[in-house]
Amino acid sequence: MAVGSDRTERQPDALAVARWCAAQGWPVHPLAPGRKTPPANCQPCQDSPHSPSECPCHRVGRWCHGFHAATTDQDLIGAWWRVNPGFGTGVACGPAGLVVIDVDSHPADVPARDRLLPGIPIHDGVDLDGLENGYHTLALLAALRKAPDPSQDSGTLRVRTPSGGLHLWYRDDTHHRFTCSTGSSTGRALAWQVDVRAHGGYIVAPSTVTTGGTYTPLPGATTPAPLPRWLAEELIRTGHLKDRPSPQPRTPQPAVPDRARQAVVAAGGGKRGAEKVLDTVLQDVTDCATTPEGAGFTGKLNRAAYTVGGLVSAGHLTHAAAERLLADAARAARPSQDRQSSAVIRSGLAAGARQPLHVGKARG
Ligand SMILES: [Zn+2]
Ligand SMILES: [Zn+2]
Repeated sequence: MAVGSDRTERQPDALAVARWCAAQGWPVHPLAPGRKTPPANCQPCQDSPHSPSECPCHRVGRWCHGFHAATTDQDLIGAWWRVNPGFGTGVACGPAGLVVIDVDSHPADVPARDRLLPGIPIHDGVDLDGLENGYHTLALLAALRKAPDPSQDSGTLRVRTPSGGLHLWYRDDTHHRFTCSTGSSTGRALAWQVDVRAHGGYIVAPSTVTTGGTYTPLPGATTPAPLPRWLAEELIRTGHLKDRPSPQPRTPQPAVPDRARQAVVAAGGGKRGAEKVLDTVLQDVTDCATTPEGAGFTGKLNRAAYTVGGLVSAGHLTHAAAERLLADAARAARPSQDRQSSAVIRSGLAAGARQPLHVGKARG
């Protein structure tokens, strides 16, 4: 692979990549040239927002709404890439029967111990020196389960990302319907800096070229191996089964991090209810990670900040905790928009603070 080259030509032909994926039975959709996100919707779709399932464009062969348009139809694929030979390829994971473990390696502050492997307490006695990113949290999880480190598994398709991350491609032969998550989410997550791409998301195809670099297959298997049983079990444990409200009672950790829970205690009676509200609105924000464009991210973040602002002024948590939780959620969904996000958070919190949100005792 010509990884050192930043030219977008003379790489594996973009159409050939799309055709190869479709031939594997994986529905594909275009990515904007040089980007890892889908191209914009057509003008009518932009002008009148609607849900992808109501979109008239797919029937007439347009690629609107990202992975919702994905197809294995070679004629349609040929037509799309003829219009724009610079398109990259996205694969719709769910209908492809794929689960892709997306290991990140972003420089970031390491979160509290209870956020590294959600649901798995890590004793203060465990030395976490040197733990920096998703490679380390995934290796730690594998070690706890006495399983081999997936990132070292040359028996499945592994793709190095331009930012130094790794995509581990697996076939889901379990017939579970797994759903996406973001590793830094305060709700559903497998491990810190480890995202899951399955139903409701897409993954950049191997050999796709972006302005950041090439998604380069590593030496070893060139097709996905079956999802290891232990990983399937971990996905179930961490609430990744689709069609089942998440999170299932995840023992022993609830969905909201300790810091916020301690803050939530302050208001007494409505603690559980407030946690629930908090978790729901934060999850709405982090869920946008699986839809890089057109997810209504700013609106959701604003709504979340407004709601949390109400919880703050009702005394359910502190302003500082609120700000931090919202910033974490926003960063998980839109890592490159910190500045815009913090402006949205500030104004949303301020507006919400004028409408105290008193949450009573949760039923049940
Ligand atoms: Zn359209
Ligand atoms: Zn549409």
